[in-house]
Amino acid sequence: MTLTARLASLIGPNNVLTGADAAAYGSEWTGKYHWQPLAVVRPGSTEEVSKILRLASETGTKVVPVSGNTGLNGGTAAEGALMLSLARMNKIRAINPAARTLTAEAGVVLENLHAAAAAEDLAFPLSFGAKGSAMVGGFLATNAGGSNVVRYGNARALCLGLEVVLADGRVMNLMNALHKDNTGYDLRDLMIGAEGTLGVITAAVLKLVPAPRAYATALLGMETLDQALTLLNRLQLETGGAVEAFEFMPDLYMARLARFRPDLACPFPPQPVNILVEIAATAPDQATPAPDGSLPLTDRLETVLGEALEAEALTEALVAQNSTQRRKLWEMRETAAEITLNETPIVDTDISVPLDVVGLYLERMQARMAALDPEAGIMIVAHLGDGNVHYTVYPSRDDKALIAATRAAIAEEAVALQGSFSAEHGVGLSKRPTMAAHKDPVALSVMRAIKQALDPQNILNPGKTIPD
Ligand SMILES: Cc1cc2nc3c(=O)[nH]c(=O)nc-3n(C[C@H](O)[C@H](O)[C@H](O)COP(=O)(O)OP(=O)(O)OC[C@H]3O[C@@H](n4cnc5c(N)ncnc54)[C@H](O)[C@@H]3O)c2cc1C
Repeated sequence: MTLTARLASLIGPNNVLTGADAAAYGSEWTGKYHWQPLAVVRPGSTEEVSKILRLASETGTKVVPVSGNTGLNGGTAAEGALMLSLARMNKIRAINPAARTLTAEAGVVLENLHAAAAAEDLAFPLSFGAKGSAMVGGFLATNAGGSNVVRYGNARALCLGLEVVLADGRVMNLMNALHKDNTGYDLRDLMIGAEGTLGVITAAVLKLVPAPRAYATALLGMETLDQALTLLNRLQLETGGAVEAFEFMPDLYMARLARFRPDLACPFPPQPVNILVEIAATAPDQATPAPDGSLPLTDRLETVLGEALEAEALTEALVAQNSTQRRKLWEMRETAAEITLNETPIVDTDISVPLDVVGLYLERMQARMAALDPEAGIMIVAHLGDGNVHYTVYPSRDDKALIAATRAAIAEEAVALQGSFSAEHGVGLSKRPTMAAHKDPVALSVMRAIKQALDPQNILNPGKTIPD
């Protein structure tokens, strides 16, 4: 019996794709990576995932898990490998409003989690541009971040329990809903961010938070990042830490946005530093409109902005007056991936540095790029509230050495400021050389030992994340 026939006998022939059907899975969202998978399997349960991995381990077949396929680093590339799609495992198993938890299978799309939580007047606060496609398994495997990390943390901070199928098919049940559980090594956190190299995530218990009753959202323009940081800290102080998002779109970003999406052009003359800020409230005293229709939350934001305008620490401020305006401001930000990743050659990155040196990082990069490739195009957008900068370069020529030197410069400057060369998208294929150059060698050897212990045949997402 061939491998595909054996797979078909395990999960049904309709759930094993080959030929042209499998080829449809042969690239990822950016279109930068292309491959020919051996086949695509679409299990419908944890038990089926377990059977597939048992067979894969018996036959030494490489397996690449795939959820929404929106990753940006080639993590799902699967040349000659079996792709294991979680898309059919899309059930919300349980929602517990009292304990504020939701238990979901790995194939639930992020936007559907938002809707399920909202139906209980709660929220699952992880959010980013690919929310309509990214799935539980993928955002946990990459420990995704996004716009609300400043308040709620990244995917890891929002996950309590995990179910994982190991390379040999054993199911590891860590599905508790506990906030405290000190029972030895934290294997849940080991699996989160492992990019499918240590196991296949099949389900998770996720944390919910109270749904904000009101938002106050504004687009601001100012001269410097120091002014932006002072404003962020002031807002945190005045609102008791209610800043949900603090997103940086410099004039470079606004110019590109106006070019590609004129309907989303900056509503005021773009300033060197433009910030999308959002604060949110659950408390009725902040979220209930006054008799004159004004909202205390918005009043609070406007008071802080008024002071900043008076102190000349702010040059432009546009406060959203309704949900349509708020949506439009968010669209300006969430279009980032679309307007950034549509040109080649490209070096796209996701570094992070401490919040108070983001400006210094950008100054140093300006000097580095002026020396390295003065004709290069530059594009910047940042989750400034957590120090994560997407620094993108369009090199002046399609030259491998220049592209590698550019990627190296972006990482080196981040590391020199005690930053990270990979803040939210994971390492995948594209950042393995950077891992080799910058990750602590002892940490790398520990990672290799863990990989060897859990996947001795190296069948799970081989050639990703850990450099050779
Ligand atoms: C428009 C756009 C905007 C984005 N914005 C952000 C952002 O703001 N912040 C951010 O952090 N990221 C962002 N991303 C990238 C982000 O990493 C992914 O969108 C998301 O986290 C990946 O989810 P996915 O379901 O698409 O995973 P996939 O792309 O399918 O997989 C990603 C990785 O996880 C592995 N994997 C997938 N499923 C499993 C599983 N069940 N078990 C084990 N491993 C698995 C894969 O092998 C691969 O290595 C953006 C992407 C796009 C396209």
